[in-house]
Amino acid sequence: MCILQIRMSKEMEELSPLGDSGHGDESEEETEEDDEPKICQVCGDKSTGYHFNAMTCEGCKGFFRRAMKRPAQLSCPFQNACVITKSNRRQCQSCRLQKCLSIGMKRELIMSDEAVEKRRLQIKRKRMHEEPVMLSPQQEAAIEELVTAHQKTFDMTCAQFIQFRPLDRDQNSMSEYSREPKTGRYSNPTMHTRPPEDGVQRTVNLSSPSSSFQSLKKNTDKRWLKGAIFTSLPHFTDLTTYMIKNVINFSKTLEMFRTLIIEDQISLLKGATFEIILIHFNMFFNEVTGIWECGPLQYCLDDAMRAGFQQHLLDPMMNFHYTLRKLHLHEEEYVLMQAISLFSPDRPGVTQHNVVDRNQETLALTLKTYIEAKRAEPEKHLLYPKIMACLTEMRSMNEEYTKQVLKIQDIQPEVSPLWLEIISKDGC
Ligand SMILES: [Zn+2]
Ligand SMILES: [Zn+2]
Repeated sequence: MCILQIRMSKEMEELSPLGDSGHGDESEEETEEDDEPKICQVCGDKSTGYHFNAMTCEGCKGFFRRAMKRPAQLSCPFQNACVITKSNRRQCQSCRLQKCLSIGMKRELIMSDEAVEKRRLQIKRKRMHEEPVMLSPQQEAAIEELVTAHQKTFDMTCAQFIQFRPLDRDQNSMSEYSREPKTGRYSNPTMHTRPPEDGVQRTVNLSSPSSSFQSLKKNTDKRWLKGAIFTSLPHFTDLTTYMIKNVINFSKTLEMFRTLIIEDQISLLKGATFEIILIHFNMFFNEVTGIWECGPLQYCLDDAMRAGFQQHLLDPMMNFHYTLRKLHLHEEEYVLMQAISLFSPDRPGVTQHNVVDRNQETLALTLKTYIEAKRAEPEKHLLYPKIMACLTEMRSMNEEYTKQVLKIQDIQPEVSPLWLEIISKDGC
């Protein structure tokens, strides 16, 4: 229903004369807007509209309701022929009531106190429900700034990805390193690499079960001795470095970020980069195949394992990707998530805590309003808390991520200086 329609229907409800609908509608909230003066048909006082089927003042309306609810034998002390006026209307209840009935006021239109209260609540609820939630102009502008910043700084075609050092999917290299012998929990997608058709490697089949663990274990040991076991690490280093630069550019495009002191900008970037990259990659995640479809390249869990990442991180990470992707977020919601993550006041080293906190609150409220305004039930249901839960989930992975990157660097020092700097806990 458009806004105009809602306004119209509200006014119709307010203006409709009582009883016309046959619902015994005892509206207490009539406000007539036409300028013609209205006169109470009982006493001649100024009328406030139709009450119980007649044009009356508030005084006569109340009198009629009380008289009907507490029926008492009324008798006229005069000749049963009093002329009721504004000034004498209290003097003879009997004639006043007769006048009320004679002009057509109806007892059956009086609602019980409970019914009046119920009706009031109903109207209130209906209005709250119908009140269209709208983004404020500031919120609209904030979303536009975020979406523009995102589109400018992240190339959704991923055309750059093929410039990175190649993704080595040597079957005997890495996948077993990450599978923990104790649990063996991965039902590991096995990589098959089709010969390049267009100079690009593609993941074809990920669903076949992994080969014998023991033989893989042996190979791993060999690889460990030989070094260079994280075969996709060079590609991942290039990819991550590229993504970090994008996150920095994205953040610096935002007015809200630029106005922060430089030390806090760095602290926020260090805290959020991993999370923003994760959110960004979720846009490429196919929740049916479990593959990240990044333009010319496709990645699967195995690729992350061959870069040296381990189960403690990859398990919750996969879970996160499935959960978030299933929410089918709009681009606006994704970028708001990224911004909410960026402006986390409790990252280590943040000094202007209050400023960042206020920014984050504004962004969170914008996301909430966006969902209210743009989403319909049932998808709207609990979407906001679900998104917030995903943000929390990512935060809990952040520490493990740093730990694993440092471990990888320890074994195979191919992590880029920028990548190391972003995860380092020291100041700048
Ligand atoms: Zn009156
Ligand atoms: Zn009288």
